Amino acid sequence: MTHVPSAFQPKEMRSPRPSLRRLALLGATGSIGRQVCDLVERHPERFALHALIAGTDAAALEAVARRHPEAHALLANPGGTDAGRAARAIEEAICDPDVDMVVVAAAGAAALAPTLSALDAGKDIALATKEVLVMAGELVRDRMRRHGSQIFPIDSEHSAIWQCLWGEKERAIRRLILTGSGGPFLRRPLETLETVTIAEALAHPRWKMGPKITIDSATMMNKGLEVIEAHFLFDVPYADIDVIVHPESVVHSMVEFVDGSVKAQLGVPDMHLPISVALGFPERLEGITPAPDLAALGRLTFEALDMVRYPALALAREAGQRGGTAPAVLNAANEEAVALFLKGQRRFVEIVPSVREAVERAEPNQELTLETVIAADHWARAQVRTSAGGSSRVRSKLPA
Ligand code: MG
Repeated sequence: MTHVPSAFQPKEMRSPRPSLRRLALLGATGSIGRQVCDLVERHPERFALHALIAGTDAAALEAVARRHPEAHALLANPGGTDAGRAARAIEEAICDPDVDMVVVAAAGAAALAPTLSALDAGKDIALATKEVLVMAGELVRDRMRRHGSQIFPIDSEHSAIWQCLWGEKERAIRRLILTGSGGPFLRRPLETLETVTIAEALAHPRWKMGPKITIDSATMMNKGLEVIEAHFLFDVPYADIDVIVHPESVVHSMVEFVDGSVKAQLGVPDMHLPISVALGFPERLEGITPAPDLAALGRLTFEALDMVRYPALALAREAGQRGGTAPAVLNAANEEAVALFLKGQRRFVEIVPSVREAVERAEPNQELTLETVIAADHWARAQVRTSAGGSSRVRSKLPA
């Protein structure tokens, strides 16, 4: 490990009394965005919304904006009008001196450019969109160091690890242990995965989330992306990040220390909790969720990850270790393959092989800039779209 992980070394504890934190919310109409709005409504003494930003859904944004008339409401893709002007308005809103924290909860790759702008403006970020770190982890880390901004994770596993690391020294970490529920197909006979329907893949046993991440949980690509996210967030080598299956989703992740101690963070599976930890840090907010009733639960179980059932894990690690734009290719190919599955144009069992094909065909660019990341992203999407679910017709190489 080469630098002090900023995520658990707060640069200051801020004022002794929590003051009002003004937020710009990217992804206001999504699942996380709506829960952020809940939290703001429940704690008006702690949070105010400066800007509400959504992608394309004008009606949904208007509904959120009606409840928060004080916030600027902005659409990234207004359709018809100048997209460049919309991007500039968003950049202005998130970089506004009135904004204390930018909450990044927009789906996927679209969140990258505004996140980099926010970091350049020295803003602290509460990050729900793991794709930002997967696509451009090095780039994000450079900007953080240069501008002294911090990233507070909202992803429940990373929130757990972050909480386990409070007060700990970097050299005391032996490994990170990410937990994953295994999704809806943990016990399903392998040979029947061929016939998985969209509805089956969308029925997550523990968490209520948006459709893309729910499919990622069924393939466990989500956990693969989270390994890469953890690598960049906590600056821990891939070899020291493990995944364990924990179907109850009560232990959100763990850290093993050099003395053999393991710390875990427990909570009911409800994203309001990690959101409140990131937004409220260093304070904890009162009564966000009930605590898990351990006696009622009776037992918590753990099992080793089945690498045959979940090939996405090894693939994600491989892309992470290749570095450069390889994780961006992995991420974009996966987004595209999942989108095709949700449209009924790919089978469930074709998702991960499509991604593997793109990752293996790519010649990752080791020079990471916003431009090379976006080029890799576009290349990977085209690759997946034009390949016939595993047997590609396209032989083009990733642009240098
Ligand atoms: Mg997660």
